[in-house]
Amino acid sequence: MSQSLYILIVGCGRLGAALANRLSRLGHSVVVVDVNEAAFRALSSDFGGFQQVGDAAELSVLRQADIHRADALLAVTGEDTLNLMVAQVAQTVFRVDKVLARVFDPAREAIYQTFNIATISPTSLAVEDFIHRL
Ligand code: AMP
Repeated sequence: MSQSLYILIVGCGRLGAALANRLSRLGHSVVVVDVNEAAFRALSSDFGGFQQVGDAAELSVLRQADIHRADALLAVTGEDTLNLMVAQVAQTVFRVDKVLARVFDPAREAIYQTFNIATISPTSLAVEDFIHRL
């Protein structure tokens, strides 16, 4: 990730805000979307990106966030199903190059794979880390 990318982060919760802060510090253009305006309080004072309030299930909200020019989209709301839907729309409708979705339920990862959506499961990562460090 050497060049500056336009990165759309959907969900500004514990994970989304941490990603936004880090990626912004790395020099990327970051837009964070969240349905709850209060969620943006988790962004650090030096966050240099943009905030967009709205329901990511609505195409108009994604359009307002300029999804058509995004190089990458990270779907990290607290809802697995919504993350799948947003990731799929980003990939198939807006042709976003790099799309990643968070999925809590490892059993759902197979469904994502049938849609060709790349996933990261905090649950699976935690299982590996717990066992590794035991
Ligand atoms: P966390 O579980 O702490 O990573 O937080 C998940 C974030 O996703 C919260 O800030 C929620 O407000 C946000 N979120 C949930 N549903 C939506 C939605 N439909 N559109 C945008 N953001 C959402």
